[in-house]
Amino acid sequence: MTLLQGRTAVITGGAQGIGFAIAETFVKEGARVVIGDLDLAAAQAAAEKLGGPDTARAVRCDVTDTAQTNALVDAAVEVFGSLDVMVNNAGITRDATMRKMTEEQFDQVIAVHLRGAWNGTRKAAAVMREQKRGAIVNISSLSGKVGMIGQTNYSAAKAGIVGLSKAAAKEVAHHGVRVNVIQPGLIRSAMTEAMPQHAWDHKMTEIPMQRAGEVHEVAGVALFLASDLSSYMTGTVLEVTGGRLM
Ligand code: NAP
Repeated sequence: MTLLQGRTAVITGGAQGIGFAIAETFVKEGARVVIGDLDLAAAQAAAEKLGGPDTARAVRCDVTDTAQTNALVDAAVEVFGSLDVMVNNAGITRDATMRKMTEEQFDQVIAVHLRGAWNGTRKAAAVMREQKRGAIVNISSLSGKVGMIGQTNYSAAKAGIVGLSKAAAKEVAHHGVRVNVIQPGLIRSAMTEAMPQHAWDHKMTEIPMQRAGEVHEVAGVALFLASDLSSYMTGTVLEVTGGRLM
């Protein structure tokens, strides 16, 4: 199968974890990818693993910065000739209950997830509407659906991504541009491996499939939303959770 043959995808936060798995899956399906990440060395190492300059490039990008996000997308168009898929995946957590969370922790998480997804969606949509084709995939979280203790910042940002994606989907649908959302549950990655054991164990009790998800299981759904397999879907939210909190 080559579901993304000849297409170009940008993936933010693609140096590791879910973003890297998405990049790997897309390359296997024929795409050329540009990885935008805070850590340039990690992004370059990821691009090498993905096959080097003919298939993958790395750009240093802080998604909270509009100019850097615009430059990331421009680089993809310049190097590979188009932007067909944009995955807004970059993320951080700064968990604390409201009693302890600082304003800075709140603002940082909103900036990376919500402002970052808006920056990426807005720039990608501007390029794609001219091409009359494109798919934007925004990575939310189950935390944005149900709200999680210690995550008033993260749950707000991830719920916000759903609203922004639906609004954007309505604005650009008639230009052939689709915007969809994935809400992963508990997925094994650096972000979740930093979690205290008791928090991990509690989450496991909520999962009907009785296991955490793997990054390639999110990547498969991103491939579906990025490809023509989902050509009549926009503004949707797909949960990748093993049935957790359905
Ligand atoms: P991860 O392994 O920590 O990867 C996140 C990536 O984003 C890292 O490469 C990180 O770079 C990068 N990043 C952070 N801030 C950035 C910024 N301002 N600009 C550009 N890149 C930035 O996490 P993950 O688990 O793969 O998460 C990927 C996405 O899935 C996130 O949006 C996360 O909220 C979401 N998600 C994850 C889970 C889960 O269970 N893992 C569940 C639901 C949703 P540095 O390492 O250099 O900081």
